[in-house]
Amino acid sequence: MYNITLIPGDGIGPEVTMAARKIIDATGIDVKWEIVNAGANVYEKKGVLVPDEVYTSIEKNKVVLKGPITTPIGCGFRSINVLLRKKYDLFANIRPVKKIKGIDTPFENINLTIFRENTEGLYSGIEKKETEGAAQAIKVITKKASLRIIKEAFDYAKENSKKKVAVVHKANIMKLTDGLFLECAREVSKEYPDIELQEVIVDNMCMQLVMNPEKYEVIVTTNLYGDILSDLCAGLVGGLGLVPGANIGKGIAVFEAVHGSAPDIAGKNIANPTAVILSGAMMLNYLGEKEKSDLIIDAVQRTIEEGKYITKDLGGISTTSEMTKAIIEKISKK
Ligand code: ATP
Ligand code: MG
Repeated sequence: MYNITLIPGDGIGPEVTMAARKIIDATGIDVKWEIVNAGANVYEKKGVLVPDEVYTSIEKNKVVLKGPITTPIGCGFRSINVLLRKKYDLFANIRPVKKIKGIDTPFENINLTIFRENTEGLYSGIEKKETEGAAQAIKVITKKASLRIIKEAFDYAKENSKKKVAVVHKANIMKLTDGLFLECAREVSKEYPDIELQEVIVDNMCMQLVMNPEKYEVIVTTNLYGDILSDLCAGLVGGLGLVPGANIGKGIAVFEAVHGSAPDIAGKNIANPTAVILSGAMMLNYLGEKEKSDLIIDAVQRTIEEGKYITKDLGGISTTSEMTKAIIEKISKK
């Protein structure tokens, strides 16, 4: 039996995490879900953003499935997501982006994984207003954090028989910060002689990804570039509703979709649950349940390919619950 913390989150979070939970349960795996909530919802009701029970649950269960959390302006916090990543040192944000059959995309063979450094860079939180007319943010790059995310990317490449890792940077301009990140990539790559290191400047990478995304297998980059490239890559395969993610540290892992709380479509039962469902599949894989993970991925793919029960963002007319039901039926028939 697995004990897993479930954080429904804000906006479409409760709808899509509920879908993922049902689907994971449908695989027959024995999960005891501990549901605790954080974010704007909780703040409105209790006046706290992250109740203590959330931390207790995460520290006890160590594995979390999480919906998007909104941080209200003026509550004294910058971002709950960033706070959790820092508190638990979830240094690796991993986002696999893969072409799904049945979705019309400009490219056929997109299959890449983004490794985004998750704890520093321009998200260091050091930002200040100098005068009325000037503000500054500090970008922090350390050798320690750079080496560990880059190693994670290379290990993944090795384990999955990938031949190339692209390091994305802007070291030509930010010579010290991005320069250090690039140095670290060169250093790590020496330990992996069978894997080619591609060095790509971030602006060029944006163009390359929309023209030749098939050239890339693994991308490793700093925090902000990783954020931006993830959304770009999500767009290449059919949108934010499809791309899952994992935040991994030493011993604690939080699985969540790339998308946000999507307030524009919240509460309408029309959000695409795929991204959180696939995040759930990544979670099962992390737990060593590869067979069940593949079962979910296969059911999601077949549902989308069939095209009968898909949400509006994918060109369909089904609700979140109808799509979820269709996926569950495919799992049950296996
Ligand atoms: P955040 O600041 O929380 O990252 P955001 O402003 O980046 O949020 P998202 O919530 O990620 O915005 O949504 C961006 C757009 O994508 C919205 O129009 C939203 O409706 C759409 N979108 C996001 N997730 C989904 C989904 N699961 N299904 C359908 N549409 C989605
Ligand atoms: Mg966003």
